[in-house]
Amino acid sequence: MTDPLPAPAGLLDALAAIVGEAHLVRDPGAMAPFLADWRGRFTGRARAVVLPFDTAEVAQVVAVCARARVPIVPQGGRTGLVLGSVPDAGGAAIVLSLRRLNRIRAVDAANRTMTVEAGCILADVQQAAFEAGMLFPLSLAAEGSCTIGGNLSTNAGGTAVLRYGNTRELCLGLEVVTADGRVWDGLRGLRKDNTGYALRELFIGAEGTLGVITAAVLKLFPQPKAALTALVALASPREALALLNLMQERCGAALTGYELMSDFCLRLVATHFPKLPRPFATHYPQYALVELSSLESEDHAAEMVETSVGAALDAGIALDAVLATSTSQALGLWQLREHIPLAQATAGKNIKHDISLPVSSIPAFIERTDAALQAAFPGCQVVCFGHLGDGNLHYNVAPPDGIGHDSFLSHQEGVNRIVHDSVASFHGSISAEHGIGALKREDLVRYKPPVELDMMRAIKAALDPLGIMNPGKIL
Ligand SMILES: Cc1cc2nc3c(=O)[nH]c(=O)nc-3n(C[C@H](O)[C@H](O)[C@H](O)COP(=O)(O)OP(=O)(O)OC[C@H]3O[C@@H](n4cnc5c(N)ncnc54)[C@H](O)[C@@H]3O)c2cc1C
Repeated sequence: MTDPLPAPAGLLDALAAIVGEAHLVRDPGAMAPFLADWRGRFTGRARAVVLPFDTAEVAQVVAVCARARVPIVPQGGRTGLVLGSVPDAGGAAIVLSLRRLNRIRAVDAANRTMTVEAGCILADVQQAAFEAGMLFPLSLAAEGSCTIGGNLSTNAGGTAVLRYGNTRELCLGLEVVTADGRVWDGLRGLRKDNTGYALRELFIGAEGTLGVITAAVLKLFPQPKAALTALVALASPREALALLNLMQERCGAALTGYELMSDFCLRLVATHFPKLPRPFATHYPQYALVELSSLESEDHAAEMVETSVGAALDAGIALDAVLATSTSQALGLWQLREHIPLAQATAGKNIKHDISLPVSSIPAFIERTDAALQAAFPGCQVVCFGHLGDGNLHYNVAPPDGIGHDSFLSHQEGVNRIVHDSVASFHGSISAEHGIGALKREDLVRYKPPVELDMMRAIKAALDPLGIMNPGKIL
């Protein structure tokens, strides 16, 4: 392990005086878990890891670092997938972990909001909402580890975006420590507030490059009385789109999830997780995992699923369907979806893309991009799945049979270019959910219009003139 850089004189002692020696990690061995990327691709270096207790301590830490011109890397659960929450290899930064800011400050049932600190684990926020008789709908596979501050800073999506929106849509107010160490109390639970620039929106999705989010006012929703899941077999992504439109017309806001999975994805899951259910006796080219929620009753949800899926079968849009009749069956169907990334990881490394497109363009995008990849890398295998209802695909490329996964990674640049050029030709985005971090900076410059980049740089310069907030990320 490489030793951290020597700190500017007195910096670490000043930080220890703020948070207490027990909450300043200086030892390289103890720092290690805070420096490693979730996927194990990279380990950075830092002068120290500091764990403040509350907003006042965060503000003092930032002020001390600003005076010493020391870069700060805000960190939540470290589950981000684009190297945003780990420091670079230079070793000049301190990691600011929000882990101890983990209090639910208030629940306002009549306003349907809750105020939580940034270090609260997402699953704990969901549980607190549940105990108050309400729903906080953000849900993703990392929910047992990721924090609400990280979710806000990456504007996380997840499985319920179709009905409830991204994290941005779930937030009404923020408390932020600015890059010079002042506290902005924007913890307003207002649904209408037209008093100038929407500063809250700047910090959401900023990946810690503009300031430190310390608390947020989140929206709560009524708890559904029932949720029903179905898996529908389809001939192609075109039928998946037709089914989505049919379900939206018939079920409206009751449609809470709509995931696309190719047969290749499910074969991969069956190979690596043979104990998971196999809902159909035969294989079909594509599948849609559909979830409907009802505020009324289970019968109401069942009736909506049965009539809409029945109509799709009658119209020849769907080829076959299974409806989960118990919670464990529904769980089994969702496990198929959730095990796709795990099955891919077991099979070996592949070239990943987290992209979004206008929903209407998805079938054409898949056809055109599959063909371009086959022309350039014959036999390559596309693992395509994702949140079709949100226009968000995980479009990953694995090597042809017989070619090693590691050696195929040497084609990463060529594969990325084909996929991202295709995304751009459909006016899509090269990062739907995961952000830019340190991983996609070059792609950002390639695909964002220069005028948009200039405005982003101007905002960064205005809010963080010393450039100490998570440098090297996004811009
Ligand atoms: C298994 C798995 C499944 C996932 N599924 C999804 C999914 O379905 N949808 C999706 O959108 N994402 C998904 N992700 C990625 C997603 O971005 C993160 O899980 C989550 O939003 C990050 O939260 P975190 O607390 O771990 O943040 P971290 O990884 O710690 O940080 C992420 C970024 O936010 C910044 N940051 C963190 N906290 C703060 C703060 N308080 N103030 C300012 N900046 C801060 C960091 O500097 C970094 O740039 C998944 C990740 C994993 C590992």
